[in-house]
Amino acid sequence: MNIILLGPPGAGKGTQAQRLVGERGMVQLSTGDMLRAAVKAGTPIGLKAKAVMEAGELVSDEIVSGIIGEALDGLQAETGVIFDGYPRTAAQAESLDALLADRGRALDHVIELEVDEDALVERITGRFTCATCGEGYHDRFKQPATAGECDKCHGHEFKRRPDDNEETVRTRMAEYRAKTAPILPIYDARDIVSRVDGMADIAEVTDAIEAILDR
Ligand code: ADP
Ligand code: ADP
Ligand code: ZN
Repeated sequence: MNIILLGPPGAGKGTQAQRLVGERGMVQLSTGDMLRAAVKAGTPIGLKAKAVMEAGELVSDEIVSGIIGEALDGLQAETGVIFDGYPRTAAQAESLDALLADRGRALDHVIELEVDEDALVERITGRFTCATCGEGYHDRFKQPATAGECDKCHGHEFKRRPDDNEETVRTRMAEYRAKTAPILPIYDARDIVSRVDGMADIAEVTDAIEAILDR
């Protein structure tokens, strides 16, 4: 099973992908996470991507499709994949078709998380993650059960993304509207898109997604 989670910044893609990984043994391929790792490691890709990401603009299609291809090559054929934050342009959607076909994989579902734009800024400015294991949290909507301690790994260090500020969020939302939302009709034409209310509680959103995957 290979699925795409689609939605604007802050829609809950990463949160839901982590939950599906935990419950279904699928693998999450997040281009945002992979690019942040490249920036941190100072690789050639990271050096190219850093300023673009800080501005909230999109990294080139060649770079992101390249890292997705490499990541797919590292997986066993039977491992299901959750694409989180990829594809984000029509060119990336085309590349993904080719990357999957070359590896004998097919796309089973595109799940669109529908959210109010007004909620996104609050979601993003309140977002933080565990510095050790990457578990996602929120100042208001998902605090660790014990303050200052990660529920999953019991780490005590947390971090916030440099691009999670209101100004950059506006640019990222504009990029989503202009370049990413227009790829939905490609998948609608194949009848593989399901829409989920992303404003529901985190667990309810997971239930709705699971129901689609079990259909
Ligand atoms: P995305 O990967 O789509 O950018 P995230 O999964 O990182 O979004 O979610 C953004 C922030 O909103 C995180 O801090 C997360 O804890 C929180 N969040 C995610 N889903 C929900 C939800 N259904 N209700 C409230 N807060 C949520
Ligand atoms: P969010 O969780 O807010 O949706 P991501 O973590 O997916 O954000 O992406 C962070 C940034 O990384 C984007 O603003 C963009 O600069 C870059 N990026 C991530 N995925 C892609 C992609 N598929 N195509 C181009 N740029 C990307
Ligand atoms: Zn942790």
